[in-house]
Amino acid sequence: MGHERPINLLQRAITQEKVVNSYLFLGNEGIGKSLVALQFAKALNCLEGENRVDGCDRCASCRKIDHLLHPDVSLIEPEGQTLKIEQVRQMQRSLAYRPYEGRRRVVILTAADRMAHDIPNTLLKTLEEPPLHTVIILLANNSRFILPTILSRCQSIRFNPLPSALVSDWLMKEKGLEENEARLLASLSEGSPGKALEIKEEIAGIPRKELLEGWVGAKSLSIEEKEGWVESLPSGRENLRLILEMTKTLLRDLIVMKTSEGEGSRLIHSDLVEELKEIAGAWSLSSLLRRTEILHQTSRAIRGNANTKLSLEAMMLSWA
Ligand SMILES: [Zn+2]
Repeated sequence: MGHERPINLLQRAITQEKVVNSYLFLGNEGIGKSLVALQFAKALNCLEGENRVDGCDRCASCRKIDHLLHPDVSLIEPEGQTLKIEQVRQMQRSLAYRPYEGRRRVVILTAADRMAHDIPNTLLKTLEEPPLHTVIILLANNSRFILPTILSRCQSIRFNPLPSALVSDWLMKEKGLEENEARLLASLSEGSPGKALEIKEEIAGIPRKELLEGWVGAKSLSIEEKEGWVESLPSGRENLRLILEMTKTLLRDLIVMKTSEGEGSRLIHSDLVEELKEIAGAWSLSSLLRRTEILHQTSRAIRGNANTKLSLEAMMLSWA
């Protein structure tokens, strides 16, 4: 879904017989990199014919790859937090032989930006002298954590965040979610379907109505109330990030409410339409925009490793 550019690049490589030995797929977690990598492996090994730009999804090879049971296609995921050296050594041993039954051996190494420190040099040997009939695909969120020596030996392919509308359509059609929930998750997913699913439970646990009425839309808060809010927010960066992102969507809805004269269909939180209407009525557009701006500054600061508690306190002060 989406990702036309990376997919076209890979398909052209097949038709022009320019498939290289090592690729680096870069893009957010859960965006579809491993799916595209596996699909590429299917096309390269499909029994319906050579130089197909896509797998047939029916032959024995395609089906085995779908079930991760193909002897020549492997998806290596980190054990715990990082990839371990033994996982890479095992991969290298398997590369010493020709493919068993496929045309090409495809090794997909996920989390290439989270490798144990002793891996890069070991891996480099393989990338420098790639075995015949082998394609190694490294997947990573961020190229910052990958050594330049490794980067320079791979063809990098970037996967951009998907448009929010595409993610929410997918959540509705493929995962059977209601429109409200799908739009909310999509808008918090950073363009990543996998991420949207991952945060589903957490989002369901955030008291949106309370957040909207008691915090986002509260005109004036006492010092105790402000401190109470700062204390009640999670201290973990990732959880806090989600709450702040959620807060952005609430403010966004207030602004939509303010500027579109109560037209509820464009709201993310359309189940809170009455509450939104009331609060939007009490605020000026410029105050809402100002709060949004301050919120953006705060989340940027927290992303950049600023002290979370201090940043939140500063935000509450500016909000007032
Ligand atoms: Zn096939």
